[in-house]
This record gives sequence, structure tokens and C-alpha cells, in this order.
Amino acid sequence: MRQDLSLLVELQEIDLDIKKLEEEKASSPNRLMALKERRAEIEANINDLKERANELDTRRKEVEEELVVERARLSKSQSRLMVIKTEREYQALLKEIEEIKKANKAREEEIESLKKEQDGVELELMEAQERISEIEKEMAVEEKHLEEVTKELDSQIKELSKSRESVAQKVPSNLLKRYDFLREHRAGVAVVAVEEAVCSGCHMNIPPQLFNELLKDEKIHTCPTCQRIIYAADLKEKK
Ligand SMILES: [Zn+2]
Repeated sequence: MRQDLSLLVELQEIDLDIKKLEEEKASSPNRLMALKERRAEIEANINDLKERANELDTRRKEVEEELVVERARLSKSQSRLMVIKTEREYQALLKEIEEIKKANKAREEEIESLKKEQDGVELELMEAQERISEIEKEMAVEEKHLEEVTKELDSQIKELSKSRESVAQKVPSNLLKRYDFLREHRAGVAVVAVEEAVCSGCHMNIPPQLFNELLKDEKIHTCPTCQRIIYAADLKEKK
């Protein structure tokens, strides 16, 4: 294979390796981000629960105060029964007493049910706090792991970049410019093999005449469909 083409093939391999590592580096914080999102969701839930706990507490105190007032009114009405003169007044007061008793019973029941709901909310709050501390532990582990992974990837990328530089400086500058341009506009792939007259970059057929030219290895050719620099796969073996 022509030396300039062979250098481009080598450069392409290194660039694809660098690209793969860069992608890995970009996606490595994903797990940490997912944990952060989960924590934010639970924190929002905790805020809702705290708000609900406050509402329940306020309502319970309100009903408890009403109950104190109404119990006092009840005992006052009950003592008035002793001093009432007429039957009509007596019946009216009895009816009033019954109504207060009934309303107070409803208040007592409401207080009980509010307390039960408050207990449930408190329990949910505790569970949510526990989940937060578990997630934060996981986050600490993940942060440390991410730091190590990033360091390792950076050092691999640095090594490959050095190799890239030493190969790139052997490539004629106009060819290198063309290569870099294609790489930028063709998803990182500028040089591709042609196997059985098919371009492995765009999977289209290469005209037979061009394929014959390619096998002669006399000059650099490009795919008529995707414009990538092409080489016959067979030639690569015969470096
Ligand atoms: Zn092509």
C-alpha cells in the first residue's frame, strides 16, 4: 500500500480509538447524575410531606381548641338544666346538649384520624431521609470511581494523542487537511476500506473501473457517494 495511504489508515485507527475514549469519558458521569436526580426527587417529596405534616398539625390544634371550648359549653348547658323552669325550655336545652355531644364526638374522631395520618406522614418522612442517606453514600462511592475512571481515560487519551501527532507529522499537509476535514464532516470516519467493491463507510457499490484503479494503488481515491478516502481492503494486508 502507498505510504501516505497507509499512514492515513493508521491515523484513522488512532482517531477512532481516541473518539471511543472521549465518548466513554463523556458518558461516565451518567450514573452520578442519575443518583443526583433521584436525590432531588426524594427531597421534593420530603418537602411535600413536611407541608402535609404542618397542615395536619394546624388542623388538629384547631379542632382540639374547639373541643375545649365546646366541652366547657356542654358542662355549662348541663348545669343550666337544674335551674330551668319550663318544659319547653328544658326540651330545647336537652336538644342543644345532644347536638353539642354529637359535634364533640365528631371532633374527637377527627382528632384521632388526624393523629393517625400524622404518624403515617412521620414514618414516610423517616423512610425518605433514610433513602437520602443511602443515595448519598452511593454518590460518594460513585464520585471516587468517576475520578479514577476519568484519570485513567485522560492518560490513555494523552498517550494516543502523542501517537497521533507522530503519525500525523509524516502525512503530507494537504492530505492531512483533507483527512481532518472529512473526519469532521463524516462522523469521525475519513478513511474506509472497500471490500468486494462496497464502501464500508456508506455501504454503496464502487464502480468496477474505480475498484480496479483502487487495486492498482497508484493514487488516492475517494468514494463517489460519501467522498471518504477509500482503499482496497486486500491492500492493507500487503503493507
Ligand atoms: Zn462511501
